Amino acid sequence: MFTKILIANRGEIACRVAATARRLGVRSVAVYSDADASAKHVAACDEAVHIGGSAPKDSYLRWERIIEAAKATGAQAIHPGYGFLSENDAFANACAEAGIAFIGPPASAILAMGLKAESKQLMEKAGVPLVPGYHGSDQDPSLLQREADRIGYPALIKASAGGGGKGMRVVEKSEDFAAALASCQREARNSFGSDAVLIEKYVQRPRHIEIQVFGDTQGHCVYLFERDCSVQRRHQKVLEEAPAPGMTPELRAQMGAAAVAAAKAVNYVGAGTVEFIVEQPPEGGMRFYFMEMNTRLQVEHPVTEAITGLDLVEWQLRVAGGEPLPLRQEDLHIHGHAIEARICAETPDNNFLPATGTLTVYRKPACSAFERGVVRVDDGVREGDTISPFYDSMVAKLIVHGATREEALARMDAALAETRIVGLSTNVQFLRHVVNSRSFAQADLDTALIPREAAALFHQDKVGKPLAVAAAVAQTLLTERAAESADPFSRRDGWRPHGITVRRFDFEYQGESMLAHLSYLHDGALHLAFGDVSGPLAFDALPAETGTRMDLRFSGQRQTVQTWQVIETVHVFCALGATQIVEIDALAHAGEAAAEGGRLTAPMPGKVVSFAVKAGDAVKKGQALAVMEAMKMEHTIAAPVDGTVAELLYAPGDQVNEGAELLKLAVG
Ligand code: ADP
Ligand code: ADP
Ligand code: MG
Repeated sequence: MFTKILIANRGEIACRVAATARRLGVRSVAVYSDADASAKHVAACDEAVHIGGSAPKDSYLRWERIIEAAKATGAQAIHPGYGFLSENDAFANACAEAGIAFIGPPASAILAMGLKAESKQLMEKAGVPLVPGYHGSDQDPSLLQREADRIGYPALIKASAGGGGKGMRVVEKSEDFAAALASCQREARNSFGSDAVLIEKYVQRPRHIEIQVFGDTQGHCVYLFERDCSVQRRHQKVLEEAPAPGMTPELRAQMGAAAVAAAKAVNYVGAGTVEFIVEQPPEGGMRFYFMEMNTRLQVEHPVTEAITGLDLVEWQLRVAGGEPLPLRQEDLHIHGHAIEARICAETPDNNFLPATGTLTVYRKPACSAFERGVVRVDDGVREGDTISPFYDSMVAKLIVHGATREEALARMDAALAETRIVGLSTNVQFLRHVVNSRSFAQADLDTALIPREAAALFHQDKVGKPLAVAAAVAQTLLTERAAESADPFSRRDGWRPHGITVRRFDFEYQGESMLAHLSYLHDGALHLAFGDVSGPLAFDALPAETGTRMDLRFSGQRQTVQTWQVIETVHVFCALGATQIVEIDALAHAGEAAAEGGRLTAPMPGKVVSFAVKAGDAVKKGQALAVMEAMKMEHTIAAPVDGTVAELLYAPGDQVNEGAELLKLAVG
């Protein structure tokens, strides 16, 4: 076993690897960028080396610096995590040349699986089932068109060098093929530096089921069962679980054998994942096809750890150190069911737009550390940390384990309900809606689950207006009461001993302005009224470390509610869900509104990919004007109103800050 390793990554995966190293008594070295100088992963390791600027190309992708850092600190091996350098064969080679062990497969295996088209040719020879398609090297557009016509529609065009769901185009009919090909090639060239494509039959209502494999340097290879990652948005995973619902022992053995054959075909060593697309034919059963192999530890590896009771990072370290696999295939067993949810800084109701900001409040559900606990949280952030635009938008992974899927599902819902994040928008409530959706609850899984259940997933507010308003009013009164007891002369119009006094509150709730009236009655009781809702309001403050926690009674409901007020926004959490309500100080805002006009600003920091218009163009409301890229995703910026483009203020390729004006639109 190594005595010291360097972790060439950041965030949750760097913390995850450091935790195992610590448990095994292996010292760890962190590397960090400017933006990460005080990040959690730096504190999680024994030593840390600064490697450069905040953008990945200036730090986490600079492999000469990383190798230098390993040499300087005496690390014997480098763990690349996922993303960044983890699937870079040149980096794996450079480590070997520097006499440092790369904790991953041999460079030749990374290379062989790096391109989807080439890896499919290899898999075909190894007898692994493939989706009907074309993965040849001849990229003549008319040949590609003929191949697509032969495969039939709908067909899928993929970038051979692709990843992260990028560049994929579904083509519905032959006439659309040429345009889709050109657009896929353009995105592939920009993102991956190669425009080679492959074509596949587009499988209808497919499931994504992948197999975890592990090989050692003695030539052994085992599979650690499957994970179902069908719940996706933009071809990216949202929820993952193991085992896959509906999986039979026979199919598991077949898929496991196919995955091991795939790994053996490239002399695989270490942790890898073979991804399959699974067709569910109307007559029943499941038909699986090889999609790609990811030659690294996967984001969703914790669900496999939960059902097998193993530490996959420990296995990675042992195998990279030359030890044989700790267990044989027949020693591996599945215990219970595990589900992982990816908590991301994003706004699901706004097309999953990534968000940046500070985690003003970050409370996790009660969880146990790494061991096979029932609730596990893997994260790389602490309360007060910032989610910056430089890296991806994942805040944390929530992993639950139960004896059955139902038990795991209930735990996931409870754990999400206990999660409190204030300061930036996240998908926590969206994840709860997905977990509680009919399709997910009944394990009716396929990659279209989110669009199919859309009506139950987006624009939901389970807290509701009455509780939100009551909580905001109660929060204000409790704050005033606290101020009054600290300083009796600061008395505002809090508690009135005599006469009825009516007090007005201005709120903005879900984009609408509203007015509420609170009456202080003779007996000290409170009466709250707004719209057609009115009734007695009662609440008792409960002890809380921070935030305001209360037992709230209003409008026939009784809930334990926790609130945080950040400037004017009151963040309301209770068992039903979470919501926000803005308490408007009416005077402070007089005359502020009007200003906005024809400005079109970047919704987040990122890169301008392209403009779809030029100065002088007349545009219609909703028409695409520009495409931006941030946090691994592309976002289209559309015209808010009809108008004429007056001026473009940036060029494609420019990096812009949040709020930067991209172009000027003359309205009308
Ligand atoms: P998966 O393991 O689910 O197949 P992807 O293939 O989408 O995940 O990418 C691997 C992971 O690498 C991402 O989930 C992401 O967390 C990480 N990653 C990729 N690019 C970056 C980046 N620029 N900054 C931080 N993490 C990144
Ligand atoms: P990436 O490298 O971006 O992860 P993959 O080839 O693994 O690309 O595919 C990502 C996702 O796209 C899959 O999980 C699945 O949802 C969808 N997908 C891929 N191939 C097909 C196909 N032939 N038919 C239908 N959906 C597909
Ligand atoms: Mg994939």
